[in-house]
Amino acid sequence: MINFSKIPGNLLLKAGAISSLGDIVSDKRAPATPVAVFLVDHYFRDAELVRGLPLDDCDRLVFVDSSSEPTTIGVNKIYDEMEGAQQKICCVVGIGGGSTLDTAKAISNLLGNGGRAEDYQGWDLLSKPGIFKIGVPTLSGTGAEASKTCVLMNEEKNLKLGMNSRFTVFDFLIMDPDLTGSVPRDQYFYTIMDTYIHCIESLNGAFRHPLADALSDQALKLVDAIMTSEDMMSENNRAQAVVASYLGGCAIGNSYVGLVHPLSAGLSMTLKTPHCLANCIVMNAMEDYYPTEYSAFMAFQSRQGISVPRGIAANLTESQYDRLYEASIVHRIPLENALGPEFKEKLPKETVTQIFKRM
Ligand code: NAD
Ligand code: ZN
Repeated sequence: MINFSKIPGNLLLKAGAISSLGDIVSDKRAPATPVAVFLVDHYFRDAELVRGLPLDDCDRLVFVDSSSEPTTIGVNKIYDEMEGAQQKICCVVGIGGGSTLDTAKAISNLLGNGGRAEDYQGWDLLSKPGIFKIGVPTLSGTGAEASKTCVLMNEEKNLKLGMNSRFTVFDFLIMDPDLTGSVPRDQYFYTIMDTYIHCIESLNGAFRHPLADALSDQALKLVDAIMTSEDMMSENNRAQAVVASYLGGCAIGNSYVGLVHPLSAGLSMTLKTPHCLANCIVMNAMEDYYPTEYSAFMAFQSRQGISVPRGIAANLTESQYDRLYEASIVHRIPLENALGPEFKEKLPKETVTQIFKRM
């Protein structure tokens, strides 16, 4: 199969765009497939946003618990609960941050392909498109709205892996900066830093792609302007963050991360640290590897009054450091992208442990 680039082309980008959701969903309803599935971040359970959803009696509304990252078990459970309606679904709408968007993509893929979520963790394992999927990000930074993967924890296999496929891409996006106003400031910072970190890793890497370079370059300019301004969450900055996140997500499909993401994955697997927070914690110890970007990252924190937690891996047991090392060093391609084919010699366990202790 040819591994070509695919990004969501159909999108509405403006403040208040969520008001068009009803029209987009009703276009998809048909006599044989009248049911729309809404997967909404649990934060919005009692919010105006939910009261305004274009819900028909036959629709399914599921609140996604984003207090931990999505799992194959959780996705399978949501899918199984749709038993009886599965053949009648016209579209899946995901409204939330990366966790909810990834859950929505995975549910759409299962509805189109059957089976279990874990069957599709890997590359190009889906044989058919999913059900029409609409993404509505409420938190900017992961790029999940634009990327062709949905990341799931597989606890049985101790593995965090996405369904990487052109069929995972959203068919329609509603990008409405008004939806991000309620995000707590620290969460907002951690998540938009995912765009920043992805782009700096990719631009400093050996494996490059001209489109990813151009997209990353532009996303970085936007993030830099947001973070060096007075209030990263001003109306204008939230609108810019929506764009930066989308551009970063479009870049991901053609580029590779570097050293930060493997170490961050180590923290997520070993200490259950959420992805975007873990990235920031790692970035605090990256002065030797990404010196210019490290300085900028420190300046962003101080300008915006954010302090990324320190010391979470300072005093662990030897077996925890072993697990951190194993869960990091396994990411061959990003590490090779950052450090070259001899990455294992450059990152012996003692060095990795010292980096974790410095966080
Ligand atoms: P998230 O979806 O995990 O949400 C984090 C917190 O923010 C939650 O408590 C949530 O309730 C809250 N929240 C979200 N929107 C809000 C709003 N408008 N107002 C108030 N609170 C709000 O956060 P995230 O950082 O966007 O996503 C992380 C997930 O994204 C991880 O599971 C990670 O693996 C995944 N990810 C996916 C991709 C991809 O390409 N698919 C890329 C990077 C990360
Ligand atoms: Zn990331």
